[in-house]
Amino acid sequence: FLPHLVASLEQVEETYVMIKPDGVQRGLVGEIISRFERKGFRLTGLKLFQCPTELAEEHYKDLQSKPFFPKLIKYITSGPVVCMAWEGVGVVASARKLIGSTNPLQAEPGTIRGDLAVQTGRNVVHGSDSPENGQREIALWFKEGELCQWTPAQAPWLWE
Ligand code: GDP
Ligand code: MG
Repeated sequence: FLPHLVASLEQVEETYVMIKPDGVQRGLVGEIISRFERKGFRLTGLKLFQCPTELAEEHYKDLQSKPFFPKLIKYITSGPVVCMAWEGVGVVASARKLIGSTNPLQAEPGTIRGDLAVQTGRNVVHGSDSPENGQREIALWFKEGELCQWTPAQAPWLWE
């Protein structure tokens, strides 16, 4: 970290963003990563990963009682996903805005789901819904050595 960033350290959050199997199969990986990269958050983790059923169930455990839960687990484990950890002030809510509403038909144009998807069951991307879940999900999907703390060369041009 640069010294001038230390003052805002306590507001720094982390969020777990995942390109779901449909996003990978449709060749949208670069497009989706670009949107977060250009926005100005800091990438701290990135990998292509075939998700085991138990991990998908743990990740979505709050939705266990929903009728669509079995379909959701089948969807998330149907092919490789791209796991990402992003860090920054306000990154959790901002990532959710970039992603758009759960139902892509209701998602605003300009958002990832609004631009690139049509169905809730194929909505191409996940983003944590709170800073607490951001931390929980990053710990769930990444091992320690897989995360990387670094200072982007453009830091002083992004952060005052
Ligand atoms: P999110 O935070 O916007 O991803 O939405 P939720 O946390 O409510 O749901 C998690 C994921 O479950 C969504 O992104 C969808 O992939 C899936 N999902 C939610 N609701 C439905 C539904 O009614 N039908 C189906 N097939 N999938 C759903
Ligand atoms: Mg959610």
